[in-house]
Amino acid sequence: MSNRREFFVQLSVGAGVVFASAGAMANGPMVAESDAQAGALGYKADASKVDKTKFPKYAAGQNCAGCALYQGKASDAAGGCPLFAGKQVAGKGWCSAWAKKA
Ligand code: SF4
Repeated sequence: MSNRREFFVQLSVGAGVVFASAGAMANGPMVAESDAQAGALGYKADASKVDKTKFPKYAAGQNCAGCALYQGKASDAAGGCPLFAGKQVAGKGWCSAWAKKA
């Protein structure tokens, strides 16, 4: 019996951790274009402002909302991205790691 009780205690602690990290992902601050990581990846919150000379691979219509790494829904204004842990990128944003959503 005591084992069973322990199992439930661990289960609820584990679920709490998962929930907390999902919440942080959804509510993190927006990535600033001035962030070092954003600069390195050529991130722009507005994909139409991408420096096409520097990033010739950018094609109109590409944005975070349509990127395989975007963790928000395609319709979300902002969402998480594993390249910017704990922060949010704009659905209309873009960076050079963009990959077409399968
Ligand atoms: S990897 Fe994708 S979702 Fe993340 S910032 Fe770049 S384009 Fe946006």
